[in-house]
Amino acid sequence: AIRLSGVTKTFGSITVVHPIDLRIEDNEFFSILGPSGCGKTTLMRMIAGFETPTGGSIELAGRSVESLPTRKRDLNMLFQSYALFPHLSVRDNIGFELKVRGRKRYPERDAAIDEALALVHMERFADRKPNELSGGQRQRVALARAVVSRPSVVLLDEPLGALDQQLRKEMQVELKRMQREVGITFVYVTHDQEEALTMSDRIAVMSEGRVQQIDAPRAIYDHPANRFVAGFIGTCN
Ligand code: ATP
Repeated sequence: AIRLSGVTKTFGSITVVHPIDLRIEDNEFFSILGPSGCGKTTLMRMIAGFETPTGGSIELAGRSVESLPTRKRDLNMLFQSYALFPHLSVRDNIGFELKVRGRKRYPERDAAIDEALALVHMERFADRKPNELSGGQRQRVALARAVVSRPSVVLLDEPLGALDQQLRKEMQVELKRMQREVGITFVYVTHDQEEALTMSDRIAVMSEGRVQQIDAPRAIYDHPANRFVAGFIGTCN
C-alpha cells in the first residue's frame, strides 16, 4: 500500500497541495481527478519521490519513499513528456529500462520485452526508431517501458492524452487487464471525468490543491460531497 500522511507542498509562498491523507491499496486502480492546475502532477511527483513534500510523509510498502534510492523503488512513473532515446530502437528503449533496473542478465529479458510490446500492440514496430513512429505509437512504447520491469506501482500522468478515441478505449481495456493479470497498482492522473469513472476502483477529486472527495466512482456520482464535485463530475449542470 501507499500511505500519505499530512502531505503538503508549497512553492515559495504558494501552497499547491494542502494537507492530504490517503491510502492506496495494493492492486488498486486509483485516479487523481481534477481540473488543470489543481496539483495532480505535483502530488504524483511526490508519490514517485521526484519531489520532496514540504510537510508530511509518504510510505511505500511501509518504507519512506525518500529513504529509497530511485532505482530501488518498486514503482515507475510515466511522465506527460515521456522521453524515448532517439538513437535506440523501440526494443532497445524498452530493454534499457530493464538494464537501469539492474535486470541486465534477467533470464527472460527478450520475453519480457516481447510481452511488454504485445501489451501495447507494438510488436511490429520493435525495430523502428522513435522518429519513425506517430505520437500515439511513441506513447504506447513509453507505456510498455513503464511496465516491462513489472513494478508493483505504476504512476501514469494523462497517459492516453495523445491517442485517438478508438485507441484510447483499447488502451483503457489493456490497462485494466494489466491491473488484473499482472497485479499492478495504478495511480492515474486525469482531468477526464468519464475516464476516471469507468476505470477506477476509487477516485480522489481535487480542486485548488485540496482533495474534495475520495470514493468509489458510483458513490462519487451518486453522492458528490460538495458543489464542486457535483459540477465537475457533471451531475449538476
Ligand atoms: P495539469 O493538468 O495542467 O497538468 P496539475 O493539476 O497536474 O495540472 P500541477 O502541475 O501539479 O497541476 O501544478 C499545480 C500548481 O503548482 C500550478 O498552479 C503550477 O503553476 C504550480 N507549480 C507546479 N510546479 C511548480 C514549480 N516548480 N514552481 C512553482 N509553481 C509550480
